[in-house]
Amino acid sequence: MPGHPDSGLAPYAAFVSASRGRAHAEPAHPYRGEFQRDRDRIIHCTAFRRLVYKTQVFVNHEGDLYRTRLTHSLEVAQIARTVARELCINIELAEAICLAHDLGHTPFGHAGQDSLNKCMRAYGGFEHNLQSLRVVDELEDRYAEFPGLNLCYETREGILKHCSRRNARQLGVLGKRILAGEQPGLEAQLADLADGIAYNNHDVDDGLRAGLITVDELCSVTLFRDEYERAGKTHAHASDRTRVSGTIRAMINRIVTDLLQTTRDNLKVAMPESIEAVRSQRKPLLTFSPEIQSLHQELKHFLNERLYRHPRVAAMTEQADTVVTGLFHIYFEDTGQLPPEHRVRADESESESGDRGRARAVADYVAGMTDRYALSEYQRLIDPELDF
Ligand code: MG
Repeated sequence: MPGHPDSGLAPYAAFVSASRGRAHAEPAHPYRGEFQRDRDRIIHCTAFRRLVYKTQVFVNHEGDLYRTRLTHSLEVAQIARTVARELCINIELAEAICLAHDLGHTPFGHAGQDSLNKCMRAYGGFEHNLQSLRVVDELEDRYAEFPGLNLCYETREGILKHCSRRNARQLGVLGKRILAGEQPGLEAQLADLADGIAYNNHDVDDGLRAGLITVDELCSVTLFRDEYERAGKTHAHASDRTRVSGTIRAMINRIVTDLLQTTRDNLKVAMPESIEAVRSQRKPLLTFSPEIQSLHQELKHFLNERLYRHPRVAAMTEQADTVVTGLFHIYFEDTGQLPPEHRVRADESESESGDRGRARAVADYVAGMTDRYALSEYQRLIDPELDF
């Protein structure tokens, strides 16, 4: 039926009408579908706005043109929308998952997460996927009727992506899927792959712009070299910058086209008649061909070796560790240093579950910080001289 949120979807898509629903039942909206409401709630939430000041690879103040967690999330959603439209799966659900997938990220990217995980070792650890779920399930405080954003099961399933078995045991229905080895829906599978496609490609762009990697070095990567040579032939008089842009565009296009073709082939073989049939498959149905998988892997490996471990990025990692670890300990040892509402949470959580509870409330507070807020708190409380 035209206008209905499920119209035009393939049988294996996530249908609003077949959703496993929300933890707290809510009346339907007169014209917005449930996954659309989830996407809208994510865009309006506080954690989403903070993504603009959180590091992807480069610290925000290193330059205005680098990706942040926010622009990264938008690029992930953009790629996922294209694929979802072509496969006739739920665009709004895919988009909601992509926009929320990094909500739980700490300040200073992966460096910040590793530090917080170390600080939390004795108290249950810190995983960013799980933290994204905590943000939408508990930490956002916007509705009188329920904690968090009360998102649909399918959106939460995609946001969690995966977590350790130890944590899965504490997650109720959502954790059962992980323990049982059940696949998530195609929209969740898509958000996961779109994340990798987006960062592998935009990190090439940012790394070149920052001068940390060069075109010559990148030409050791098959995927880049292929498309760079092609771009040189098609646009012989293009500037270096437009040639690189054309190369990255072509890489994304090649990967996405392969993803579509391979997934269509997988769907033809498996013929899933519903999202439940997608879930009960032994393996994900949304995949790259083995050839693109290995080319993509080669690119990822290059970035790991040359960009993420570059001395300039490593120096940032060290500073991030100092800031995150310093802040965690100062708040943990004296909750009086926290803003009043967080102090109340930490004290309540401590009376429920002791040090573990206090540590979790402190980790929630530190994880929610933007890069610049974390740095200014560190300067205020610990060392006014520290700067990046
Ligand atoms: Mg991401």
